[in-house]
Amino acid sequence: MRVIVIGAGLGGLALAQSLLRAGVAVDVYERDAGLEARFQGYRIGLGDRGLPALKRCLPERLHPLLHAVSGDMAGEGRAVDTRLNELGRTPVQDEGLLFDRHVLRHLLHAGLDGHVHFGKRFDAYEPLPGGGVRAFFDDGTTVTGDLLVGADGMGSAVCRQLLPSVEILDTGVAGVIGRTPLTPELAPLVPGWSTLVQDGNLNLFIGKMPFRRPPHEAAAELAPDVKLPETSSYLRWVLLLPPGAHEASEEVRDGVDFVADLVRGWHPLLRAMIREADRGNSGLGPIRYADPLPAWEPGPVTLLGDSAHPMPPGGLGANLAFQDAVSLRDELAPVARGEAPLLPALAAHQQRMRDTAASVHSAAMATLRMITRT
Ligand SMILES: Cc1cc2nc3c(=O)[nH]c(=O)nc-3n(C[C@H](O)[C@H](O)[C@H](O)COP(=O)(O)OP(=O)(O)OC[C@H]3O[C@@H](n4cnc5c(N)ncnc54)[C@H](O)[C@@H]3O)c2cc1C
Repeated sequence: MRVIVIGAGLGGLALAQSLLRAGVAVDVYERDAGLEARFQGYRIGLGDRGLPALKRCLPERLHPLLHAVSGDMAGEGRAVDTRLNELGRTPVQDEGLLFDRHVLRHLLHAGLDGHVHFGKRFDAYEPLPGGGVRAFFDDGTTVTGDLLVGADGMGSAVCRQLLPSVEILDTGVAGVIGRTPLTPELAPLVPGWSTLVQDGNLNLFIGKMPFRRPPHEAAAELAPDVKLPETSSYLRWVLLLPPGAHEASEEVRDGVDFVADLVRGWHPLLRAMIREADRGNSGLGPIRYADPLPAWEPGPVTLLGDSAHPMPPGGLGANLAFQDAVSLRDELAPVARGEAPLLPALAAHQQRMRDTAASVHSAAMATLRMITRT
């Protein structure tokens, strides 16, 4: 059995790790030129749903490294005004661990050399008459396999062909995502797990990514064959811009100068955080979402992660992507051993994904409505 995965994001790489260890042949095709190709580094909170699943995907020898590059998601959340006067508190968040997405992708790529093909943008697929599927890439090449898995995220090209009725919707709200090195001077901005700065219709969310150990150092000691990025603890901040606020000017693409201008009268520490942002890891993006996907007939193409349940950011998307990877691996392993037929296995995976996603979709949408005030 040969599996083609489109997308080397969190879900696609986790699936490849677990399928290879189950003895299933797998190749991943990613449009980016490499893991370093563009801004990838924001923090991800993994809890009861995602963390056990991620550990099942990774070989046990990498578990100590995984822990070493995590941070604790602990303490209270608070809301403050632009002079840092406290407005309120949010409940203690004492479960789960924090990860940097860029570091996590490198860790998930460990041992996959030769199985991940960069610079391959998927265009379309074609089911083959005798079973199986052919994938077409924009460089004119094709590959064939028994199953194609769309792990190509929100706005998935695989999903567009499989389920043309699915619409990705734009809230009109955009977010400038930035990161700033965590210095002793800036640390008081986030005493707990997050701080929300409120100013009329502007919301600035600040969170800490406190690596237990610098990732490249931890890798050198705990798994020398794994190369992790040279990065250090940071503050991740997201400024949500109300509809229309960013459309006037083109220079907003970078985001940082635009935000610096908006926070001119704010507390000096907040201004310093924006000023000292790492511009290569900051940028502006639309906040998008979709309604839950309809059910689809099992066939030689399935989905996983954000492509299967596109939700607004900041929710549980990565947690679900790791759960999906484990679900699909558990269904495909017996198929690859010739002990079970493919189509019922895929039907079970698809149903499980839909059930799990349905349980968190409405909560994600309620959060979105609250923060965008729509
Ligand atoms: C700011 C922010 C904060 C977040 N915080 C959290 C959090 O705390 N907890 C949580 O659980 N989730 C969080 N998420 C959501 C989480 O990042 C996503 O749900 C998760 O990354 C989805 O994984 P995925 O593998 O499905 O897709 P992705 O990780 O998006 O990967 C998709 C991959 O497919 C590639 N691709 C796309 N199109 C093609 C194509 N045509 N051909 C080839 N390759 C293609 C892309 O380049 C990408 O590498 C957050 C998201 C954002 C933006």
